[in-house]
Amino acid sequence: MARCSCELPSGRFSVVIEFQGVNKWFGSLHVLNDITLSVQPREVVVVCGPSGSGKSTLIRCINGLEQIQKGDLVVDEKRVGDPATNMTLLRTEIGFVFQSFNLYPHKTALENITLAPIHVRKTPRAQAEKDGRELLAKVGLGDKFNAYPSQLSGGQQQRVAIARCLAMRPKIMLFDEPTSALDPEMISEVLDVMVAVAEEGMTMMVVTHEMGFARRVAQRVVFMDQGSIVESGAPEEFFSNPKTERSKAFLGKIL
Ligand code: ADP
Ligand code: MG
Repeated sequence: MARCSCELPSGRFSVVIEFQGVNKWFGSLHVLNDITLSVQPREVVVVCGPSGSGKSTLIRCINGLEQIQKGDLVVDEKRVGDPATNMTLLRTEIGFVFQSFNLYPHKTALENITLAPIHVRKTPRAQAEKDGRELLAKVGLGDKFNAYPSQLSGGQQQRVAIARCLAMRPKIMLFDEPTSALDPEMISEVLDVMVAVAEEGMTMMVVTHEMGFARRVAQRVVFMDQGSIVESGAPEEFFSNPKTERSKAFLGKIL
């Protein structure tokens, strides 16, 4: 299982993700408004907020899927968008799980998982397949290695997608509403896998409205509205004592 190895010899921790005064516009739309946020190694940060508030854009900036126009964004000690940063290399350190599972439809579960380790990490095939089977077992799909995505339920496909990310042994995992496309009965099987990943020490940023997940493993909940971080705090504090009218109104709708 991938582990973050960001602990410094002195026992102090480095920061894995740091937004400093980050701004982004789509045309005249100001989608990220002066975002300052840092994520420590092994920290799990849940990002919530109304639709259109900039949550997806925020996490897509981390692996350069979107570019920022002002401010600084440093990920794993590399400045995102700096010509000196090898973004392809940085992306291999970052797993990204989307709402739509995005598996390769013509490849089996095991092939989906081994593709990047074999072709990007240059892991020998036999080793990649051994690791892949272990990861499938870990996400509760040990017997599904030969199944194609169309033969799997949405929850099973999403678990394969998570295993596929883990196969690259990333330092960071980003999740963008990973359970929003799932039937209700499949949500918990995916959240349980995410909890297990968190408990093994992965650094995670998770866009989700699953507040049970936030309570179980998040150190911090960040509430966004209209491109700004409006509130940020420990889950218990945020849920029981939201500080702003906007976060109260939001929680009133989802809880
Ligand atoms: P959320 O994930 O919180 O729903 P997004 O980050 O997807 O919010 O979007 C924030 C705002 O940016 C929304 O108003 C959305 O319509 C707009 N937006 C997102 N992507 C693009 C794009 N590629 N071009 C133009 N506007 C976009
Ligand atoms: Mg979104």
